[in-house]
Amino acid sequence: MEEVINPIQLEGGYCNSLTQYSRFLTREVKIGNIPMGGLNPIRIQSMTTTDTMDTLGTVEQTIRMVESGCDYVRITAPSIKEAENLANIKKELRARGYQVPLIADIHFTPNAAESAARIVEKVRVNPGNYADKKKFEDLAYTADAYQAELDRIYKKFTPLVKICKEYGTAMRIGTNHGSLSDRIMSHYGDTPRGMVESAMEFIRMCEAQNFYNLCISMKASNTQVMVQAYRLLVETMVKEGMNYPLHLGVTEAGDGEDGRIKSAVGIGTLLADGLGDTIRVSLTEDPEFEAPVAKALADRYEKSENLKVEIESGTNLSNFNFKHLTYSPYQYTRRITNPVQQIGGHFHPVVMVDVTGQNLKDPYFLNQLGYNYSAALDKYNLSDLACDLVYLGDELPSFSFPGNLKQLYNYNTWLNLKDKHNCYPLLNEREFAKAELKDEVLNFVSINAEEFNNSIIQQFNNSTVVILETVAENGMQNQRAFFVALQQQDIKVPVIIKRTYRDVSPDQLMLNAASDLGALFTDGFGDGIWIDAPTNIGLPLVNSTSFGILQATRTRISKTEYISCPSCGRTLFDLQETTQYIRSKTDHLKGIKIAIMGCIVNGPGEMADADYGYVGTGPGKITLYRGKEVVKKNVNTPAALDELIEIIKEDGNWIEKAI
Ligand code: SF4
Repeated sequence: MEEVINPIQLEGGYCNSLTQYSRFLTREVKIGNIPMGGLNPIRIQSMTTTDTMDTLGTVEQTIRMVESGCDYVRITAPSIKEAENLANIKKELRARGYQVPLIADIHFTPNAAESAARIVEKVRVNPGNYADKKKFEDLAYTADAYQAELDRIYKKFTPLVKICKEYGTAMRIGTNHGSLSDRIMSHYGDTPRGMVESAMEFIRMCEAQNFYNLCISMKASNTQVMVQAYRLLVETMVKEGMNYPLHLGVTEAGDGEDGRIKSAVGIGTLLADGLGDTIRVSLTEDPEFEAPVAKALADRYEKSENLKVEIESGTNLSNFNFKHLTYSPYQYTRRITNPVQQIGGHFHPVVMVDVTGQNLKDPYFLNQLGYNYSAALDKYNLSDLACDLVYLGDELPSFSFPGNLKQLYNYNTWLNLKDKHNCYPLLNEREFAKAELKDEVLNFVSINAEEFNNSIIQQFNNSTVVILETVAENGMQNQRAFFVALQQQDIKVPVIIKRTYRDVSPDQLMLNAASDLGALFTDGFGDGIWIDAPTNIGLPLVNSTSFGILQATRTRISKTEYISCPSCGRTLFDLQETTQYIRSKTDHLKGIKIAIMGCIVNGPGEMADADYGYVGTGPGKITLYRGKEVVKKNVNTPAALDELIEIIKEDGNWIEKAI
């Protein structure tokens, strides 16, 4: 029976509330013995990397994934033989006492899907690859030709839907930014709207056959595109009376710190607004490392009551109107500000780090922040991760700081400095309102998003930069509300967003900060970032996390970006080893994006987001891309990296690595 959902008033068009955590209620979908959506916990899942024909290897990896926290395990089925082998994998798992629901990952092969749907609890189909045309040609479709294509797909897709209905198998309609069909591309381009329409077409076909056991995903490696696509999907579904559960993920997020930060930016941004029923974090690491990251992200929203607090009534924030947004949640536009001393305006967001409590007699401590001191030359060499500002509170260093590193002092200490060159005051609201003496060009004022006095806003001038703090656990919503308040009053002061974390592990700091701050930068808010971390977390992690968040939100590029897939049973080379090898030779190419893909499933479309692509096309064979264009086909693996470097050199993008 079709479930009719009540008309919902969504704030910003895509979520229950912009001012508190409120989970968007989706319909419950049955997936084996572990239902998803509705009031169920946010489910965790991952995907095996073994060859699907290796039954025991896949079973053992699946068990490791379950032990690490996976509720569901996905296994690739590139052809009918792998689809059929899912029966052996399932049998062996059940014999060992594991009831974990299995998901078959299908791309180009309807017959594999139809076979798998009789065996496993869920199938994933990619609408761009399932019985659809994708020759990456710029085709113009007439309305009739477009409809004829849809009719053709409907015929090809119908048998799978019937099998799913008969066997009680769930389905994920999993759109990928990189693999949209020619038909969709011809009408919408590779846009979030195109991704949504790609899924909606398949949803409508399912509903035409009264099949509702669905969940939906909108994955992209670009976090802005991914976030916008999910929001647009919810808005579109609700308009059409649908509320299917959402599977969240950032594709090809990479590995290590970068992969975790990028995943948290995309997934955490959506979770904070109550969207998401299951999570897959895609890391180029062994799959059992993914579930703990996904679980940490989900737990934060499921377990903390403090996140569910509304903006307090009677405060300044509660007076502002969030029904009429001053920004678009579907399109990135940076908030317009008037620059102050290279902060705000068109300048990239700055990074600020608290250095109180450090050894301020030793210039070498700045090495941790990207300023490598040479005693012989008495000079600093800057790395690409050199922070822009440091906060010293009331502590005075006994050596000269690098010329381009701005120093912030508490107001009274700043007043007494003999040499104020490159030193600026940080004032609280009261000091800011009363101070007779301020710096001529740059003053920082600390504002609490929950408690600020609106009259202070009217005193901002062309030397003011706001440090926006919050004491609330749901501080992202409060800080976002503050930005809306500024926009509603047409106040163009630059704002550095500060978040304070206590009692967190290094991993939690990275994930929480990436979720909280990433959500704001993704919507175009913020001219700087300040992560205030406990002292047990070293400066290098605080600094690299700050730069990592800016890179993941694409607001400041400071390093090479690797769009590497997590690998699966389709993988044609060792992804982890290859990624490390490519990284070792290219990690000095700031701003270059290199895609490293185990196969071409996600297509040249994914390469559109990268400058260069290194893609497995057969055993021992690599195809090299410049953007979406194939430059060298089927290069032998040992020569592939050198060939890639040659292409980068031809484009004038190569620089030699400093030793
Ligand atoms: S791109 Fe990577 S993870 Fe995706 S299907 Fe190919 S090998 Fe598997």
